[in-house]
Amino acid sequence: MALTGIEIYKFLPKTNCKECGFPTCLAFAMKLAAKAVELSLCPYVSEEASQALEAASRPPIRLVTVGSGDRKIEVGNEVVMFRHEKTFYRPPGFVIKIKDTDSADEIAKLVGEVASYSVERVGLELKLDGFAIENASNNGENFVKCVELVKSKTDLPLVLMCSDPAVMDLALEKVASAKPLICAATKENCDQMVELAKKHQCPLVVSEPAGLSELAELVARVTDAGVEDVVLDPGAREFGQSLAALTQIRRLAIKKSFQPLGFPVITFPGEGAASIEEEVLLAGQHVAKYAGIIVLDRFTPGMSYPLLTLRLNIYTDPQKPIQLAPGIYEIGKPKPESPLCVTTNFSLTYFSIAGELESSGFPSWLQVCDTEGLSVLTSWAAGKFDAEKIAKTVKEFNVADKISHKSIIIPGGVAVLRGELEEELPDWKVMVGPRDAVDVGGFLKQHWAG
Ligand code: SF4
Repeated sequence: MALTGIEIYKFLPKTNCKECGFPTCLAFAMKLAAKAVELSLCPYVSEEASQALEAASRPPIRLVTVGSGDRKIEVGNEVVMFRHEKTFYRPPGFVIKIKDTDSADEIAKLVGEVASYSVERVGLELKLDGFAIENASNNGENFVKCVELVKSKTDLPLVLMCSDPAVMDLALEKVASAKPLICAATKENCDQMVELAKKHQCPLVVSEPAGLSELAELVARVTDAGVEDVVLDPGAREFGQSLAALTQIRRLAIKKSFQPLGFPVITFPGEGAASIEEEVLLAGQHVAKYAGIIVLDRFTPGMSYPLLTLRLNIYTDPQKPIQLAPGIYEIGKPKPESPLCVTTNFSLTYFSIAGELESSGFPSWLQVCDTEGLSVLTSWAAGKFDAEKIAKTVKEFNVADKISHKSIIIPGGVAVLRGELEEELPDWKVMVGPRDAVDVGGFLKQHWAG
């Protein structure tokens, strides 16, 4: 179990020398308990205390890295069951399965499509993360060739799916420097796969469908043999099965500090789904609870977009809305006579209205007020979006210098601010826009003289 700040404090030197950057040992202990700093900042901890504290401060779910370079997948290090308790830190990696029975042309085409797929949402570029290469042919030569081909086309992380250690070794000889995930060690091949993971310094999936006790035993065998970067495959494939297994693994790791299951989990939603729709639903369940790497059997832009969006939503800190900097933004190429609209700095609000303005045919100025990332009505109700704030932003960003008119359009949801804003900006004309962003084009056509 994690130690409290007071329990950690008992192990510290209590000299308050400040060398760790904190005024007292107690302050440092509190930060350690919150996992906000590392013990190594204190140079005076005894060996004995250090061992006790390192064990207690070890994350309940180990951080495991698959791949190398900028696009490597890092999963694990989660500390809560539910995102509202704190946040989820490491979004699961989506990897697309490639079979070594496919032709070279099909493989090259799929790799190109997946690697170049990206969508923009709330100002962020969302992408898929890698490939899982499956030895579907049961032929070692085909598998090695396929691994080489995929590696020659992409630097994205790889998962190598093959149960034959000899074939896996040949494939690893070609791509081990890219740190692929070896999938998988089973009861039958465990010792050989462990040797490969050690030899090539790659993370290893441990797969055991017989039950969580059996999985924990197999993991203990692997870690005792010296492999620490482990990813779990409990073998659960269906909706109910995988929900139960992944939740129990997470609970045992977080609530009971049960180390044999304190590792990220890999899932295979395509294997438990009868259709593309089911695969998307099951993958969505795994995003929410509690996959680290998700192997998708299929790829289409239509299935990828909702999954990437869901992942973004689940892994956004619920206490820190995605927001953008306040200021005056150009939508299209506005001229001095173009309309001036006002909104808040909640990203979703901004991108909704910006998208509608862009397609409206009216290049515009969009004034974004600092509402601490809250949407229009929420920020108004919280007293963070009022006439004073709008007027202050107009002055702070010298809006009047950019435009040749003095008309400002406020969101219809806060029409009530009109009178107050007219008092704050006495020589301005305050117009009340539509309640919904989608209606802004029609509003401008009707009310903006230009
Ligand atoms: Fe205490 Fe160590 Fe920090 Fe000094 S460096 S204040 S001894 S925790």
